[in-house]
Amino acid sequence: MTNLEPVIGLEVHAQLNTRTKLFCSCPAGGEALPNENVCEVCSGQPGALPRLNAKAVELAAKAVLALDGEVSPFSLFSRKNYFYPDLPNGFQTSQLDPPVGLGGGLTLTLANGQEKFVRLNRIHMEDDAGKCLHDEKRDKTLIDLNRAGTPLIEIVTEPDLSSSVEAIDFLKKLHNLLVRLEVTRGRLEEGEFRCDVNISLKPVGSPTLGVRTEIKNLNSFRFVGQAIEFEIHRQTAIYAAGGQVDQETLHFDSLKGETRPLRTKEEAHDYRYFPQPDLPPVIVEPELIARLKESLPLPIEKINERYQNMGLQEDFIASLTAWPSALNYFEEALTFYPGPKRVAVLMTELFFPAARQNNLEPSETLLRPAHLAKLARFIDEGRVSKNVAYDIFGDLFASGSDPEIVIKAKGLSLVTDEEAITAWAREVIEAHPLEAQKYNNGQTKVLSFLVGQVMRKSQGTADPKSVSLALRQILFELNEELPY
Ligand code: ADP
Ligand code: MG
Ligand code: ZN
Repeated sequence: MTNLEPVIGLEVHAQLNTRTKLFCSCPAGGEALPNENVCEVCSGQPGALPRLNAKAVELAAKAVLALDGEVSPFSLFSRKNYFYPDLPNGFQTSQLDPPVGLGGGLTLTLANGQEKFVRLNRIHMEDDAGKCLHDEKRDKTLIDLNRAGTPLIEIVTEPDLSSSVEAIDFLKKLHNLLVRLEVTRGRLEEGEFRCDVNISLKPVGSPTLGVRTEIKNLNSFRFVGQAIEFEIHRQTAIYAAGGQVDQETLHFDSLKGETRPLRTKEEAHDYRYFPQPDLPPVIVEPELIARLKESLPLPIEKINERYQNMGLQEDFIASLTAWPSALNYFEEALTFYPGPKRVAVLMTELFFPAARQNNLEPSETLLRPAHLAKLARFIDEGRVSKNVAYDIFGDLFASGSDPEIVIKAKGLSLVTDEEAITAWAREVIEAHPLEAQKYNNGQTKVLSFLVGQVMRKSQGTADPKSVSLALRQILFELNEELPY
């Protein structure tokens, strides 16, 4: 048998980061009781009219531009008809032709160091369906329409990928970009970023594509890898036995690690797309495109370079580039205080651990980048000691308060008042005559102990540099007065 190679194309669904649904003002996402976020539009009541969410169009266009595609100045919604219990309209409102975005792509760096451009076919907007909840106890299926009408973009690649590793690389890079753009919140476990994998085999080098299967709705990078590997083996075995692969839609069973048919081509849907008469064409003005282009972030490679030039540590850079919402947080903090090193230290030592412990994305924390930046600035300016900053951090993180207010309220601003520090220093030396003597006998290491004692007296508010200076001055004078 000739050698076969895999051909893979992806259809990625990303839930757009809007407050409300695509065609009504019901909340999109968030905590809610079943069917709480439902109105006459998203429950498909006769006569209810959809109204397009402008923010969704903006986010979709932003994604198109960031992926180097062309934003269609004029695009249309169609009705994609099929019956499903959680699809109250009896059709999905989706874009067929023209979609909001055409072309574009992402460049991957392969294991061998070579670059590969993965082309996009299109990006279109559509609404999501509701959910069927299978209630085992009652032996009934219940329907929750909270998700019905939630805005999605679908990103369709050309069949340019050749392995599970490439597919995962592509998805991770796409996810990182879209979350950084705040186009989607991208929480995989919530299904906010999920994909269908199309896969076929063909003789190595052949220009003709083989028959493909489509694995639906994978919402973890690991499952994508497992599903592709399984499917490559399954199809290879079929060809090796002289058989033909059926064009099928498959479901990936993550527990068994195998794909199973969902439906075959014979029962494939004929969606009978037709123009959605209730919605006018989507017009994207050149002004919006220009404004969005302005707002696009640097590609990740450029950001890497920039951080290296700032002298940031490799570990920190790596954690930021792999954690898009942390990266955005850091970038925003820098706009308030351009002291990257101090901000980086605060994030590594305090902010990340607190966020992880509370299971929060940086974008969700009460402590805003402006306030973290202010705390960093206060430390650098000597307005608070590092000790104080670290002591109050828990408070700041939990409350989201302005550090300036907390520091003032607690009377914690850094004491550089010489008189107060000198008084504390004298008290400490009087209380530790032995250590004072040691110091004056040349055991200068005890100084740090004495500094610590003064810091304690000041409850961490004293400026350690001034403390050390005051102690040395007093010890010096004491030395002169000691009888020989
Ligand atoms: P549909 O919308 O019916 O699923 P499309 O032609 O739009 O079909 O293709 C959907 C996805 O399948 C795209 O990502 C495309 O790259 C991929 N694809 C198409 N043909 C093949 C094939 N023979 N092998 C692998 N992927 C394919
Ligand atoms: Mg498809
Ligand atoms: Zn609604």
